[in-house]
Amino acid sequence: MKNPYEELKKIINESNSIVVFTGAGISVPSGIPDFRSADGIYNQKTKIHASPEEIISHSFFMHNPEDFYEFYKEKMCYPKAQPNAAHKYFADLEKKGKNVIVVTQNIDGLHQKAGSKIVYELHGTIHQNFCMKCGRLFGLDYVLNSKGVPHCDKCGGIVKPDVVLYEEGLDENTIGRSINAIMTCDTMIVIGTSLRVYPAAGFIRYFKGRNLVVINKESTSYDNMCDLIFNEDVINVINHIK
Ligand code: ZN
Repeated sequence: MKNPYEELKKIINESNSIVVFTGAGISVPSGIPDFRSADGIYNQKTKIHASPEEIISHSFFMHNPEDFYEFYKEKMCYPKAQPNAAHKYFADLEKKGKNVIVVTQNIDGLHQKAGSKIVYELHGTIHQNFCMKCGRLFGLDYVLNSKGVPHCDKCGGIVKPDVVLYEEGLDENTIGRSINAIMTCDTMIVIGTSLRVYPAAGFIRYFKGRNLVVINKESTSYDNMCDLIFNEDVINVINHIK
């Protein structure tokens, strides 16, 4: 039996284009809790009498922006989080001239912080926020430094994070670019997502390339169609291949 780490190294070396599809698991080593794991935010108690899924929904935001922001600022934003070895590995690969596209479900911006240039954020980003009235853009600091609900300094409108909330659709441009990248790459590496959640599960069907690799602590329903599976911590895998 071949050494799986050597196998992955070889796959990466021989690939012309790689799509790295990431979920919460890649940012857990950076201190950002996984949404759905046992100690993830969905299982945390909140002062607000609503489940996290309800709180981060469009209708909740529209009706209770105060409560939304109380939860959001504390549980969804990690301004001090730093990219880890996995984010850096793929950013460095791109820097060395490899055609690497990151498609991520994460909203933390850590791929960009690590240096990745082409990143499609399916669920948006905490780093961009806009005034619902005039469209003016604001960074994360503006939101975090505002007391309670952030308001536009120009027109007074409510500022909303550019994050896809429950009940909201994904950005069609981002979906289109992501699908196109997945359809045309020769290697797809799925990291830190069980692929159970929409839209990840659907995206993998577009892959027509040679090598499908999954790195995820728990097994996924796609393991049988993978060429290589690592059911272990992503940092451990990266340490073996870098
Ligand atoms: Zn405004």
